[in-house]
Amino acid sequence: MSFQALGLDAHILKAISEYGYTEPTPIQAAAIPPIIAGHDLIGIAQTGTGKTAAFTLPILTRLAAAAKTPGTKVLILAPTRELVVQIEENVLAYAKHLPLSIAKVFGGVGERPQIDALRRGCDIVIATPGRLIDLMEQRHGNFSNLQHLVLDEADRMLDMGFLPGIKRIIKALPKKRQTLMFSATLSKEIEALTHEFQHHPKTVQIGRRSNPAESVTQLVYEVPVHLKQSLLSHLLRDDKLDMVLVFTRTKHGADRVARKLEQTGVKCATLHANRSQNQRLKALADFKSGAVRVLVATDIAARGIDVDGISHVVNFDFPMHAEDYVHRIGRTGRAQAIGDAISFISPEDQAALRSLEKFIGRGLVRKKAEGFDYHATAPARTEEPPRYRDPRSRPQRTQGPQSQQAQARQENQRAGRDPAPRREDPRGPRPKKGGALNSENATPKAGGAKPSLWKRLTGKK
Ligand code: AMP
Repeated sequence: MSFQALGLDAHILKAISEYGYTEPTPIQAAAIPPIIAGHDLIGIAQTGTGKTAAFTLPILTRLAAAAKTPGTKVLILAPTRELVVQIEENVLAYAKHLPLSIAKVFGGVGERPQIDALRRGCDIVIATPGRLIDLMEQRHGNFSNLQHLVLDEADRMLDMGFLPGIKRIIKALPKKRQTLMFSATLSKEIEALTHEFQHHPKTVQIGRRSNPAESVTQLVYEVPVHLKQSLLSHLLRDDKLDMVLVFTRTKHGADRVARKLEQTGVKCATLHANRSQNQRLKALADFKSGAVRVLVATDIAARGIDVDGISHVVNFDFPMHAEDYVHRIGRTGRAQAIGDAISFISPEDQAALRSLEKFIGRGLVRKKAEGFDYHATAPARTEEPPRYRDPRSRPQRTQGPQSQQAQARQENQRAGRDPAPRREDPRGPRPKKGGALNSENATPKAGGAKPSLWKRLTGKK
């Protein structure tokens, strides 16, 4: 199958050939013709298989053929700022020979340039929902001629954290439009929701709905919680781990792991929602350029981030949701490169591991690290001097396994921080009173779609 046979515009064919694409990936071959024909579509394919081009190329083809109208014609919504930046890079490359204007809209940076861009009437807007709603509420942007709406990482965009914001945005768009949803994972429950926004959508599915990319070798290391940091340092002695993305459950956990790695001479950057937009961009840039060997991140980096050559993904903390596992490990083995995904499993993670194995339909290989002392006692805390403990605070447990949350709570108590850290969720934006979304790092409401969905999928309480 060639790109020419898919009916793409000549300017786009020229751009993608210059970009180095010679033939379409399976999701592109399957999705491009129905999108050019004007159908609504749900596209499901593994991470890193070319989904961005699968929706962008046919939309650009339709724009190239359409009469010029004022305002924004295409709105692409994505869950994180990093993903917005990445999609924009792709769209700019594919639209290189077309006279189209493109704007990106996301929080954490000044509004003014984004307002100016919307005022100029950009043909294509790529946005996270929170900032877009803020700007739409201030009456910026002209979406009255919108023709194409894309929800990238659709399952995330339609879960409880984002859904109210998405509904508000869609309410402000013309009813007659093409709506496309793309994701690597899309449960039947979330798919049922899409019918609210789509008109007789076609579904294009490549591979299983919950499948990590075939090229990723997945290994599990069973290790007590107190030895996880030492095991990470031990594994990093192998030069083959040359570009490593480490996932932790909390922002503080990410900082702690990075700090300890730095102490052993490993160059690290961190990426999580407590960091400013500039720090986040610099962390990604340093990781991409090889200036740092390890990027320690929360799930904010789990979706869509396309960094060439990530050799290993390490789940330092095992993810709470099986979908997050699939997205996290999709950061390696992208575009057919061989990569390894390593998960540290402590006794408390065993149930989640079993659920994950059920979800992805196969067991994961257990591995022992050669030369690693699994019986070592907990290393002494070096960087945190003993602090005075308020006698009014709850007694600390001194024996037995502790959950990571309990550990984090204790650590916060010692440091006088309040409240206890919660697991960061990249679904982030939680509706404010009155509904506006404006931050990427809020947690979804308890009892939202995700936990009940997880329960339904896994039977886990
Ligand atoms: P995506 O799934 O859109 O994040 O794309 C994953 C990677 O595959 C990106 O680096 C794309 O530039 C690359 N890619 C997408 N389509 C093709 C293609 N047809 N041929 C080669 N590389 C591609």
